[in-house]
Amino acid sequence: MLILKFIPIIFGLLGFCALAERSAAQTPRQHKRIVIAASEVLDGKGGVVRDTRIVVEGGKIVAVDAKAETVDYDLRGLTVLPGWIDAHVHITWSIGPDGKNAGQGGTTPEASYAAASNAWVTLMAGFTTVQSVGSPADVPLREAIAKGLLPGPRILTAAEPIMGRGPQTGTPEEIRAFVRKQKEAGADLIKIYASGGMTRGAMTMSQEQLEAACDEAKKQGLRSLVHAYRDAVRAATLAGCTEIEHGLGASDEDLKLMAERGTYLDPQAGLLLETYLQFEDRYLAAPYYTEKGFAAMKGLIPAHQEFIKRALRIPGLKIVYGTDAVAGAHGRNAEDFIYRVRDCGMGPMAAVVSANSLGAEALGMGEEIGSIAPGLQADIIALDGDPLKDITAVRRVVFVMKGGTVFKNASRSAISNYAGAQP
Ligand SMILES: [Zn+2]
Repeated sequence: MLILKFIPIIFGLLGFCALAERSAAQTPRQHKRIVIAASEVLDGKGGVVRDTRIVVEGGKIVAVDAKAETVDYDLRGLTVLPGWIDAHVHITWSIGPDGKNAGQGGTTPEASYAAASNAWVTLMAGFTTVQSVGSPADVPLREAIAKGLLPGPRILTAAEPIMGRGPQTGTPEEIRAFVRKQKEAGADLIKIYASGGMTRGAMTMSQEQLEAACDEAKKQGLRSLVHAYRDAVRAATLAGCTEIEHGLGASDEDLKLMAERGTYLDPQAGLLLETYLQFEDRYLAAPYYTEKGFAAMKGLIPAHQEFIKRALRIPGLKIVYGTDAVAGAHGRNAEDFIYRVRDCGMGPMAAVVSANSLGAEALGMGEEIGSIAPGLQADIIALDGDPLKDITAVRRVVFVMKGGTVFKNASRSAISNYAGAQP
């Protein structure tokens, strides 16, 4: 029995070694000059460039030049754009071997493979950077991907989030100490739960506690993302936090205040709730999710979409692309584009920009990712179809390059409305 138990670990180690060798072999190739020919390039900032070539060297874009020779990848007939950024995922959350939602992911071989698989399908879906908010299990996955040991998107993680529990959350000093502890643990940002779930959105932290959390994050050079519904939206905005997650129940006045302060809004248009409903039995079998909660969820899809429509009418409000991908949603991150454009009236160009340059700006990485421009990371994807004419083209990602390495180069029409692997 003992040996049986270790077999997955042994196979895991063998897999790691093989990948490490391959990765080392790939390094020199990354420095090779690569030329990509494209007939339509969405530059990530709202512009369209036609009939050009993108030159990549040392993992970065070095030129956009129609005359560049010699073409290595001919992506003409496809739509080429920067790799997408998902501002809100839970990359380690998965369905366990018992078929139940396993939550934030543990350290068993099964949980580790599930997390690696989530990373793989997310990258294959065209997402080259994700912000995972948060589980300490994200940290070793982020490191393995960054070292080239596993294929996956670039990960930014919040490590352990601050769970608002009223006065029990802690004194402002204790909250500040917790923020510093997350930084030491390798957090790229701080995640804060300042209200209950979407059906019971009462505030779970005081204004003073929120101010301590977001102010300390700022002092440590970290951004703060706040899970907030209703009153918590205004409170987090006033506390100077960077980004509001979800936001349902915020008034127009709250949204205007966010626009004035430059606070980013990260709402979800459908993928999350659709995933919960699709895998209702697997979630209901696990703790926390209730029949009552699921009954309420059905009415919440139109409520979220009405909220996004209202947010789109607030001048200057910066709406980023975050799907809240949980178990069952990984690899289907692009579905939320379809909900946003088809059901919320968002323009397709604005939708893709929210996951490109605007998403990069919200991460403080606007000079590194999110656009097709010289000096930026060569994160380049191609779609079989034009999302400006048919938003479902976002499902047909046929080419994925991250940091100059090609991870996917499928033949055209090989992927028809691919909707991700089932857990
Ligand atoms: Zn979430």
